[in-house]
Amino acid sequence: MSVVEDRVLVAVDAWLRWLPSWSPGHHRGRARVCRRCTGSPLLTAAGIGRDVPHQVTHALTTRMQRIIDRIVDDFTQQELPMLHAELTGEEQRASGGYDPSAGLEPEFDGLDPDPDPADGSQPYLFTLAGLAAEAQPPAPEPRPPLTAREREVLRAEIARADECAETVGNELCFALMAHRTRIETAIERFVEPQVQALLDELSAGLEPPQ
Ligand SMILES: [Zn+2]
Repeated sequence: MSVVEDRVLVAVDAWLRWLPSWSPGHHRGRARVCRRCTGSPLLTAAGIGRDVPHQVTHALTTRMQRIIDRIVDDFTQQELPMLHAELTGEEQRASGGYDPSAGLEPEFDGLDPDPDPADGSQPYLFTLAGLAAEAQPPAPEPRPPLTAREREVLRAEIARADECAETVGNELCFALMAHRTRIETAIERFVEPQVQALLDELSAGLEPPQ
């Protein structure tokens, strides 16, 4: 089993363990389009259709994306010294403040920490994004600009990192296809009955009073 296949197996198992706890009422709707899920080849590979609730798909795409990111990070660290130094510097400059998106569970990672309040509900007294802005440390010293040669090397390294991400992404899609049946069965068992119940409830509410 390859490293990717192995990690996909572990991540799909984790998602399958999480899925029974999912419930549509526990998660607020999201008005904006998710860049991670929309049109994701990962979901096609997993055999997940468009009518599956977003939180369910997001929990899977995030787990898969983390596998890709980690392999690309390792590759960058080992093979792309300039990009690695650049990213490490960025991290150090960015660290220290409160980051509402750090250390989130896969189901919430990458989502807007402050989704628009649903119609009719109270607006938030404060937002997580606002707190994060207040907690930012003062701006660090600007560093010297890169030379033309350094920029060239950096561009080439970024291209290699992109290539790595694409190769890993393709391999991961193939690995994910092997789990289609398990994924489909779990959605049929844990998600569809809840969605159906919600739809029944909504249509009952729409019936005219007797
Ligand atoms: Zn998503």
